[in-house]
Amino acid sequence: MPKVRTNRIKYPDGWELIEPTLRELDAKMREAEIDPHDGKRKCEGLWPIFKIAHQRSRYIFDLHYKRNEISKELYEFCLEQGYADRNLIAKWKKLGYERLCCLRCIQPRDHNFSTTCVCRVPQHLREEKVVECVHCGCRGCASGD
Ligand SMILES: [Zn+2]
Ligand SMILES: [Zn+2]
Repeated sequence: MPKVRTNRIKYPDGWELIEPTLRELDAKMREAEIDPHDGKRKCEGLWPIFKIAHQRSRYIFDLHYKRNEISKELYEFCLEQGYADRNLIAKWKKLGYERLCCLRCIQPRDHNFSTTCVCRVPQHLREEKVVECVHCGCRGCASGD
């Protein structure tokens, strides 16, 4: 049976397997975007959005690189369509950045006191036990944690 699509995008094989998850994350993302930020600090309002974007990139990344369940073609398609962040994934392939939460956390100019975000500091080197970075709410994404 021919599939009827409403737009002209050509979906690579395997798309139907990942579409439900991506749609679900999309819906969550929209909810997070319209969520009123009352009572929260301005930066905190953005945390859920960072979290979902991270989750979505991680999903695509794992499917292709860890589980080998989607083709290169479908993987590239997801990146082109903005379902995953190419720059973030490029970092995950580097030693020490496998769990990086978001790109802002490694931009030196975004940090007031040091060159890296507090969430990038390995747990055993941190002074405070509980950490939440101001950028994305990350509680620690150093590789060894
Ligand atoms: Zn982090
Ligand atoms: Zn972050």
